Amino acid sequence: MTKVSELIFQGLPYAYNALEPHIDAMTMEIHHSRHHKAYFDNLQAAVKDTDMAGMEFTELLRNISKFPVAVRNNGGGHYNHELFWNIMSAQGGGEPQGELASAIARDFGSFADFREKFSNAAKTRFGSGWAWLCVLPGGKLEVCSTPNQDNPLMDVSECKGQPILGLDVWEHAYYLKYQNKRPDYVSAFWNLVDWNRVGSNFKQAI
Ligand code: MN
Repeated sequence: MTKVSELIFQGLPYAYNALEPHIDAMTMEIHHSRHHKAYFDNLQAAVKDTDMAGMEFTELLRNISKFPVAVRNNGGGHYNHELFWNIMSAQGGGEPQGELASAIARDFGSFADFREKFSNAAKTRFGSGWAWLCVLPGGKLEVCSTPNQDNPLMDVSECKGQPILGLDVWEHAYYLKYQNKRPDYVSAFWNLVDWNRVGSNFKQAI
């Protein structure tokens, strides 16, 4: 439980070149040190000297319709990127194990069916946004996508749940290497997913 004013802009849990060849070092450096940093700085500027600064961050996001659009965009931007960096790893890929694997089979039929549904959500999000695997209230898993920097925690989101896996499909996430070929970036992402981390996110959410 962290207050908005106590959030920290953290370094990546790996080197900028760690995810090559799937995501190149320059994209990672610009994405983290400029794009994510700007969301973080703009969030802090937007809450400075307001009651929002003392709110618990996820509580702010859950009630985001009551707050300025700059807080929605930059607060979502900070939350989403922090999740994104941490669900990827150079040792990623493969398939989930244990409880998460069982829940995916239960709710999507198979891991392959889940992956196709998530990939389609990422590929068909028009313009900028995110694809998500989230845990709905009650524990069911669902795939969805959100525009801009919205996420399923937000009361403005069409799909509402706890995100445990997210994929950034803004062009800034892939354009240097993949240009207009978003589907190739989405395919490459599966080599990076840290299923141990997503599995622990799942356990915390249920
Ligand atoms: Mn991004």
